[in-house]
Amino acid sequence: MKLKIWSLAALAFTIAIVLFTAASLAAKAQLPTRPSIPAESAIAGLPTIATAPLVEATPTPTPVPTPTPLPPRKATYNKCHVAGSEIAMTFDDGPHPKLTPMLLDMMKERGIKGTFFLVGKNVAEYPEIAQRIVAEGHEVANHSWAHPQLTKLAPDALKKEIADTNDAIHRATGIQTTLMRPPYGAINASITKRLNEEFGLTVAMWSVDPLDWKIRNAAHVTKFITEKAAPGAIILAHDIHPSTVQAMPAVFDTLTAKGYKFVTMSELIALDLPAPIQTTPANTPAGIPAANPAIPPIATPAPPIAPRATPATTIP
Ligand SMILES: [Zn+2]
Repeated sequence: MKLKIWSLAALAFTIAIVLFTAASLAAKAQLPTRPSIPAESAIAGLPTIATAPLVEATPTPTPVPTPTPLPPRKATYNKCHVAGSEIAMTFDDGPHPKLTPMLLDMMKERGIKGTFFLVGKNVAEYPEIAQRIVAEGHEVANHSWAHPQLTKLAPDALKKEIADTNDAIHRATGIQTTLMRPPYGAINASITKRLNEEFGLTVAMWSVDPLDWKIRNAAHVTKFITEKAAPGAIILAHDIHPSTVQAMPAVFDTLTAKGYKFVTMSELIALDLPAPIQTTPANTPAGIPAANPAIPPIATPAPPIAPRATPATTIP
């Protein structure tokens, strides 16, 4: 009896050993086998095979670049001095219920960005168009509430024109504007100072004016803008006149073909160089005239100005 128990125990032990060995072999068969690498000295002259590490190295965090602070803005910009071929297309007096959406379609089709100087009361009437302007990547800015000549306003009335428009734009779009274009370009030093200091607004003038509010002819608008455009220019137009909006496809396509890049006015200001740069043929895109030489030729003295025969026309 005792012998039988021992025999059974020995048999069970043997079976256990056999099963364990079989299981070990099966597990080993499933493991991926790594090729055996010959030792460096074993095969002389052959390059050693680099093996990939079994555990991936922890990626080192990429350092976050600290943004370069923008140079302080000037009080007023008429144009900018840029090293590239950037240009700012600006549209005043909208949003217009029909023409502004038409213009936005033209810009969207071409991937062109611009700046819209909005009249506050129009924003209050068409907030959804102001929202669309922002949603499509354009800049919105202040052009007063009711388009008065700022220079003729009492201090409180001026404050209301500016603040109400900023509020209307903010309510419609969530944007706090940083630029203000005075209606008719009517501005003086004390209003500029107030806009800068009290409202944090930069005065945005222009360098190319096709007088599109007066000459309601698309061919004229296209010709004037495409001929007068230069790198860093700020182009004035009004998206409340059908002739102006009709002119835009040709303006956009002609200037794009000449190598210009349309940016918003704040983007153009961010590119502004402290002094005019000498444009060389190397960095001038095809079709864009090189900037005037830094040293202008000596001008011949201008003849004395004759008195005007007709009175000067007043700005409407
Ligand atoms: Zn205007």
